Parts: sequence; C-alpha cells; structure tokens
Amino acid sequence: MQEKIDLCDLPWPALERFVVDTLGWKRFRTQQIWQWIWARNASHVSEMTDLSLKDREHLGSLAQISRPSVADVRESSDGTTKLLLELKDGELVETVLIPSDAPQRPGDLSVRMTQCISTQVGCPMACTFCSTGKLGFRRNMTMGEILGQVQVARARLGDTRPEHPIIRNLVYMGMGEPLLNLGPVMDSLKTLEHPKGLAFSPRRITVSTCGIEKGMAVLGESGLAYLAVSLHAPNQDLREKLMPRAAAWPLEDLISSLESYPLKTRERITLEYLVIAGVNDQPEHVRQLSRICSRLKAKLNLIPCNAVPGSPYGPPTGEELLRFEKALWDKGITAIARKSKGQDIEAACGQLRAAHEGAAAT
Ligand code: SAH
Repeated sequence: MQEKIDLCDLPWPALERFVVDTLGWKRFRTQQIWQWIWARNASHVSEMTDLSLKDREHLGSLAQISRPSVADVRESSDGTTKLLLELKDGELVETVLIPSDAPQRPGDLSVRMTQCISTQVGCPMACTFCSTGKLGFRRNMTMGEILGQVQVARARLGDTRPEHPIIRNLVYMGMGEPLLNLGPVMDSLKTLEHPKGLAFSPRRITVSTCGIEKGMAVLGESGLAYLAVSLHAPNQDLREKLMPRAAAWPLEDLISSLESYPLKTRERITLEYLVIAGVNDQPEHVRQLSRICSRLKAKLNLIPCNAVPGSPYGPPTGEELLRFEKALWDKGITAIARKSKGQDIEAACGQLRAAHEGAAAT
C-alpha cells in the first residue's frame, strides 16, 4: 500500500495543490484543513468535523497527521521542562519549554513560555563544547517534525488559542544547525507566520546559527525571524578550536556579512557567547569582543557553559561571570549574562538524548 501523505509536511501552496489536484476539491477547502492542522492542533483527520463524513473518509484514506510522541519528560525545579520526542523512524530529538522572565502585567496570571526547538537529528558541525555535536549528524528533520515539537508542547500545555498563546516565543536553538536544513526551516517559518494557522509574528521567533553564509542571506531577506549567531570565540584561532567546522567560514567574513545583515526598526542581532572558564573570558577577549561589537548593531548574550561529559570545558564562577560582564559594559557593549535554566535536567543542547544513550549503553 502506498504511504499516506503527511499533511504536516505540506506548506500552504503544497496543501492547496493536494486539495485541488489529488482530492479534487475546491481551493477554499485548503483553509479548513490548514486551520485544523495548525490552529486547532488536530491529531487525526476524523476530528475535522466541518467536513462531511464522506470527505473525512476520502481525506483519511490518502493522508494523515503525524505528530512526534513523547518518550521522556524532565521537569526542572525552576519550571523548565524538557521533552524527548520520538519521530516516526524512532529517532529522538529534544525540545525545551522555558518559563519567560518577562514581567507580566499585574493580575495577569497567564503563563508565558519560550520553546526551544530542534531542526536536525544530531548535527554535522561538531562544536567541541556541545553534546549534539558529539552525536554527529543523523538526518534532517522535515517541516512537520520541526513544527510537531510546537504542536506536542501546545497540546501538553492546553495552548489552544493562537490569539492568546501560552508559547509566546520560539527559538531555533535545539539540536542541529537550522541553516543547514534550510528548505524545511524556511517552510516552518512561513507556516508559523500564516494568519489562519499559528499566527506567530516573526518578532516572536529567533533562529540561531553557528554562521552559515547562504542560509543567513536567505533568512535575512525573508524577514521571517530574528537572527542569533553563536559566536563563542572573539578571534579566528579560538573559533577554530571551539567550532572547527563553523570556523571554515572565517570570522572576519562572518562579521562583515553581519554588518550588512538586513534589520528591522530597533532590531538587533543577538550574539551568543558561551562563557568557558579560562578559555574565552580573559581581558584580551573583552578587547576583541569590543572591536567586533563596535561594528555591529548587536547585543551579546553571555551563557555560562554547561559541563558536558567528555569535554574539558566548564562554567565560570558567578563572580568570574560578573567580572567579565562588567568588563564588557565598561567597553560600552550591551552584554547580558543569562541565568542558566534547567541545570538539574540536562537542558543544554543534546544532553537529554545523550543521557538516554548513556543509560542504554550501560
Ligand atoms: N546550530 C545552531 C543552533 C544550536 S543552539 C547554533 O550553533 O547556534 C547552540 C546554542 O546552544 C549555543 O549558542 C549555546 O547557547 C547552547 N549550548 C550548546 N552547548 C552548550 C553548553 N555546553 N552549555 C550551555 N549552552 C550550550
């Protein structure tokens, strides 16, 4: 038997073609099906009750909605939740829900979450501090799998109304390098933005990259998300040590491409900087960072490096981190030290899957 079409993998134009050419239905039906999949988060064609029973049967005979299943859940004492999700072929990816820090209006009891999503199973970039990097690359995720993470999280949280979302912000900062899975990632951004579906404004989405030239050009031109760049090293030598593959595109070229990156009003590029004790937090690094930042409209996010088994790197003490942050401010750089969340649940990129495999191996 022919495999059924997965409706979650179809961006709007492809769904429209399927509706018209394959089902032989009127074009306007696209919107009905789209709303069920994305806004209403249906998990089965049979839920589409505004289609006649006959139409549901016809649709269900050719197509299905597949969502990842939850293989494990870890909840941190700070409210961060990490889900390990199993995809159709048994591969595992991680997504993390982080309660937002943003102050809420008085009396507003609603929860706000930022969700961190994965785009690849594993990652080809092999950054030396990253547990996903250690796993190697297994495969790209499809658009349906990327957005399936959001839909599974929405279902768990009871996040049912796109106009009043619990998941306010999305960050493409989970497993994988989003800009090496460009087609599905761009399709996912277009699907997220669609007003009849999840209706995520691009101002609620950030895509994080280690610096991929072509992908950055495409993302910048689309305006579909904010850009975050994993910098982690303020000079080429150190970048080659920490991020050997990403550094194949020289730091100087990366920075000059960021100088002309298209930005919206008041928009700034986020530079992510893992602070690794004794490695990239010295006075010379402050000077180098200040030269880089003076060329860009950017803010610097300082993230204390989580220790990853088998890696020599570790976090600075609280005091060292403050000192580094202050030295950057003294140079006029907007640097913000992020509190690391989910420490007790192995929330850094790739750590939960790695812990699972470790447990399976023993
Ligand atoms: N490939 C993309 C997306 C992956 S997210 C990119 O490189 O940007 C990468 C982010 O995960 C890093 O910027 C960092 O914030 C976080 N990260 C990776 N390894 C980490 C570690 N050992 N400790 C803390 N954060 C880590």
